[in-house]
Amino acid sequence: MNPELTSDELVRWRLSAIVDSSDDAIISKDLNGIITSWNRGAERTFGYVAEEIIGRPISLLAAPDRINEMPSILARIRRGERVEHYETFRKRKDGRVIAVSLTISPLRDHSGTIVGASKIARDITDQKRAEEALRQANAQLRRANRELEQFAYSASHDLQEPLRMVSIYSQLLQKRLAGTLDADAQQYLTYAMQGAERMQILVRDLLTYTHATNLSDQSAQPTHATAALQRAIENLQSSIAETGASIAHTPLPIVTVHEVHLRQLFQNLIGNAIKYRSLEPPRIEISAIRQQNEWVFCVKDNGIGIAPQYQKQIFELFKRLHSAADYQGTGIGLALCQRIVEKYGGRIWVESEEGAGATFLFALPDSPEENHSQLG
Ligand code: ADP
Repeated sequence: MNPELTSDELVRWRLSAIVDSSDDAIISKDLNGIITSWNRGAERTFGYVAEEIIGRPISLLAAPDRINEMPSILARIRRGERVEHYETFRKRKDGRVIAVSLTISPLRDHSGTIVGASKIARDITDQKRAEEALRQANAQLRRANRELEQFAYSASHDLQEPLRMVSIYSQLLQKRLAGTLDADAQQYLTYAMQGAERMQILVRDLLTYTHATNLSDQSAQPTHATAALQRAIENLQSSIAETGASIAHTPLPIVTVHEVHLRQLFQNLIGNAIKYRSLEPPRIEISAIRQQNEWVFCVKDNGIGIAPQYQKQIFELFKRLHSAADYQGTGIGLALCQRIVEKYGGRIWVESEEGAGATFLFALPDSPEENHSQLG
């Protein structure tokens, strides 16, 4: 650096050093679109060196289908307007078309008259490619998900009829052959009938699962959680009576969730609290607390509990910790609960220690202006 530089020259020298070290292309042009300066970033972005492009028209950089946009950009600059983050395409010296984001500002002389424009161009080709790949992958995933759901629904639906046939004809066989079968044959027939029955339950649960999110969450009306809980308890009456379960609840809120979904949540969680009971009669407590923009519901039991290492897995479809001989079930209930709460943008989790009961919690988002003092 020349030590004789004036402070004005020093500022200019610093500015040009900044411009030159920029990764972005920084270009200026006059009002006729003739290039007047060109930094190193522009050399890298467009492939031309300064000496060969300064004095030539900016339209050299236009991508074939974008030539028309240049005059309108120049017209805006003449009016003193700035063009910000304008995404378009430009052509490099080697002919390759690149995606760029442009910010163009009018350049004024000392008297304030617009004499040209400065332009910062950023090569966003890789970013655009990544965005497009992500968009395509997302669309593909959504399509695959829809197809899979449709498949699961039709498969479980179509399986019902043949299953009913197996069940009915095994029962008929059993009746017709009563007294003529030896003990082994009788046993085989019983196994076949039990298998068909288990499969019918599985198919029914799968149908409920695939059906669960058919209702749009947009059409949900405010629902009294207490009413949904009462319906769940009514549906569980026989197992409550059989096991001597007691169910208590604190005042519950009104939430904007389809009643059937809230009922399914309570029914599955209370049903499990009864099924996975300890030697004591089941004691189940249901409560809800308000937290910022959500209601958190708790279903607490005094059952066998769940060891920490399984507390995430149990929400997966078909995931069970016990054999059908110990506890009957299909491993669909908690996956269904998770699917329902996630449909409303909520979440579900469990807090438990093995042997010390489990508390299932689910949070349902709720707008702050909802009437959250309304517990009943
Ligand atoms: P299912 O009850 O048909 O097996 P779920 O999806 O409802 O299926 O539950 C998955 C697993 O989580 C159960 O097999 C059980 O091991 C465990 N589980 C669920 N609820 C409880 C509970 N309240 N206490 C202890 N374990 C539970």
